[in-house]
Amino acid sequence: MEIVNTALAGAPALLHAIPHELLIGGRWRTAQDGRTFTVEDPATGQPLRDVADASPADGLAALDAAVAAQSEWAATAPRERGEILRRAFEIVTARTEDFALLMTLEMGKPLSEARGEVAYGADFLRWFSEEAVRISGRYSIAPDGRSRHLVTHKPVGPSLLITPWNFPLAMATRKIAPAIAAGCTMVLKPANLTPLTSMLLASVLLEAGLPDGVLNVIPTSSAGAVTGPLLRDPRLRKVSFTGSTSVGRQLIKDSADTVLRTSMELGGNAPFIVFEDADLDAAVTGAMQAKLRNMGEACTAANRFIVHESIGGEFASRLAERMSALTLGHGTDAGTDIGPLIDAKSVAKVTELVRGALDDGAVVLAGGSQRAGAGHFFEPTVLMDVPLGSSILAEEIFGPVATITTFSTEDQAIAAANATEYGLAAYLFTKDLNRSLRVAQHIQSGMLGLNTGLISSAAAPFGGIKQSGFGREGGAEGINEYLSTQYIAIADPMAE
Ligand code: NAP
Repeated sequence: MEIVNTALAGAPALLHAIPHELLIGGRWRTAQDGRTFTVEDPATGQPLRDVADASPADGLAALDAAVAAQSEWAATAPRERGEILRRAFEIVTARTEDFALLMTLEMGKPLSEARGEVAYGADFLRWFSEEAVRISGRYSIAPDGRSRHLVTHKPVGPSLLITPWNFPLAMATRKIAPAIAAGCTMVLKPANLTPLTSMLLASVLLEAGLPDGVLNVIPTSSAGAVTGPLLRDPRLRKVSFTGSTSVGRQLIKDSADTVLRTSMELGGNAPFIVFEDADLDAAVTGAMQAKLRNMGEACTAANRFIVHESIGGEFASRLAERMSALTLGHGTDAGTDIGPLIDAKSVAKVTELVRGALDDGAVVLAGGSQRAGAGHFFEPTVLMDVPLGSSILAEEIFGPVATITTFSTEDQAIAAANATEYGLAAYLFTKDLNRSLRVAQHIQSGMLGLNTGLISSAAAPFGGIKQSGFGREGGAEGINEYLSTQYIAIADPMAE
């Protein structure tokens, strides 16, 4: 009997229905030079859809539209902005299957994970619909008792939002929702590998009542050439970037001339520490989540498993057994646990890191190679006894590869965890409360999962320290990235 993939059967109609042009000033339009580029399915290499390819002139037209819409948008009632976000949350949630399928097609993650991302991504719309009406200020009496201080917050102004390909919906809503809540207008440049989800999201926001020009979307195959002129334009007030540390460094330099407000959500190299008293079942389950969510293509992915020497062998063999049992395949196939990596370049990078570790003396307990045939697949891999100094411990792997090293003392574990230029996420498994608080105090990371492998939440401040960037997305902090503070000194009202 032929097995029919019902999810894939719906793909042509969905791909046909979503917008594929630039959104500028509330209108979908072709690029000025008529160019397009092709989005592909990473599981097959097959083309999915051509989309308009913004030129530098289109980028400036998008900024013109954002600037034109800014003052009226900033004057809208917070409740109105919140209600648009709430409606968008309802629509995205109602269209969970469409968003999930689109992300699976253009990014490769299994449908079950894509549905999880729809819930997570939509949650930013809901969270910031609630935050829009809670932008507060303060009024105080100056210490000398005479003058008064009034502190208020205003939208920063037109913002450039640049997003990566790994979470096509959530990385967009994590920026768009607080910007809308704060009253900022935007130009969104999605990753060229996965622009389709952003385009569907933009159409939902228009349907939810977002006024023309508040959100402009410019997919492009020439990121630097299109965003460069915007960064140099004094009308732009903010750039919020999520992506690699190397591109982030460049954008910080490019933002210097206009002294632009910047938020940088950059790369990670998360340690995952397991102490000898940890619940080993929970630690292995947490490891599977922290390592394999999104095929390991997550900035929060656990890269370096640092395990107490007394349980290192047991932890490694249990993890290898679980990882070897996973099925690779197209994300729409019901039996698929692990989808493809995003492109051939990613597979080549992971292959090189694994080879380097093996040359350095690491031992393979599971996987170890790319899968032959169509698509960009790499086997879930466990490497034991990875020597310190191996480049796989220094670089972001961005693939389904777990490296395991062991330690004997708490100080050694902390030193190993902090031996990286990154400082985004970290994970810690122990039943000892004092130890967990003590170690957490010393771990250099913006976020820490204590006895859990899952840390992302719209209600929590997401972000890093060191070369993982600065600024926070989500939580009560997230909206501050889009607000500027104004202080008004008031003369003594008691004086005649
Ligand atoms: P990337 O290569 O840095 O690209 C990110 C975005 O920047 C894309 O939209 C890209 O456009 C654009 N871009 C590239 N070069 C640019 C330039 N010179 N000027 C302006 N924009 C430019 O990163 P990625 O490969 O998409 O994403 C993976 C990285 O993102 C990993 O390092 C991961 O850790 C990080 N990440 C961090 C977080 C976080 O919250 N900290 C979350 C998710 C991912 P094109 O697509 O056109 O190249």
